[in-house]
Amino acid sequence: MPYLHAPEDLGEVVGEEPSYRVDQLHDWLYRTPVLHAEDMTNLPGRLRAQLAETLWPFKVEMEQESDRGTTKKWLFRAPDGAAIETVLMGYRRRATLCISSQAGCALACTFCATGQFGFERHLEAGEIVAQVAYARAFLRQIGMPGVPDRLTNVVFMGMGEPLANYARVREALRRMIEVMGMSARSITVSTVGVVPGINRLAEDPWPVYLAISLHAADDELRSSLVPINRRYPIEKLEEAAWNYFEKKGRRLSIEWTMMDGVNDTDDQARKLAAIAKRLRAHVNLIALNPTPLSEERSSSRLHIAEFARVLESLGVNVTIRDTRGKDIDAACGQLRIMAGNSPEAG
Ligand code: SF4
Repeated sequence: MPYLHAPEDLGEVVGEEPSYRVDQLHDWLYRTPVLHAEDMTNLPGRLRAQLAETLWPFKVEMEQESDRGTTKKWLFRAPDGAAIETVLMGYRRRATLCISSQAGCALACTFCATGQFGFERHLEAGEIVAQVAYARAFLRQIGMPGVPDRLTNVVFMGMGEPLANYARVREALRRMIEVMGMSARSITVSTVGVVPGINRLAEDPWPVYLAISLHAADDELRSSLVPINRRYPIEKLEEAAWNYFEKKGRRLSIEWTMMDGVNDTDDQARKLAAIAKRLRAHVNLIALNPTPLSEERSSSRLHIAEFARVLESLGVNVTIRDTRGKDIDAACGQLRIMAGNSPEAG
């Protein structure tokens, strides 16, 4: 499966072909990716036929679209059955891809469909990069109405906790930045607070953006929603986030999923404002996309706007994030529940 291989291994794939084929294949895989091996027009038929079976490390099991064709969600299936969800969101000037770093997740956040499913396995670096290459190929060859034909941003906000799969995510970042030529500024790694992972990321050479999925601003509430908080409480998380900010000089963001009657109170807003100001972070508020197995419901739009106003009045920069693909269950972890791969389905 060439796509699981590092670019350095492409010589093995082209076999007896002349060495310039390595460069050609490298370009097709990493620079101007295409959806099908037959589109690799300067490669000989034999090599294209060989690649037809092995170009992608997964099959497209489900593809859904919404928002008038500007949101696309794929459920990819690896040969061992692992499910990989990827969402592409197109806008007038940008196209953002939300990628998965693990099949499932062990961290069991109460409001998250992926967390409810449990952990399947880590994704390989090639499987992470392949999601990016696939979306790039899709934008170039098929496209979305009114959306640029190139991928402008990648966010690690799909299934899994990226910093719990550190080595493979690191290798994926290396390939995306150093091989595919993406800017580190176009990439955001999101974490619920794996403190050692944040510290390691701070030592890596690439100044990617860091998003902290906070969701609660005191340890008691946070530990009940995000169990890893018991291991890395807010104070430790703040320390690591600040260290990252100081080392990289990249503005931090705090992600806050709005849950009705849970974390949308004035008290939480005040505590959140204090943290955001200490970290000089931007806050993104996101309506909860309810999952079949969780009790939490989203705060109303009015209430989210009110919560945002409270934060602003306390001097915090805040954005209410656009929720995409509601009608296609775009919250990660939900597609495979639809595909019958749910905890209930066993
Ligand atoms: S919110 Fe993220 S870290 Fe928590 S269970 Fe879901 S995927 Fe895992």
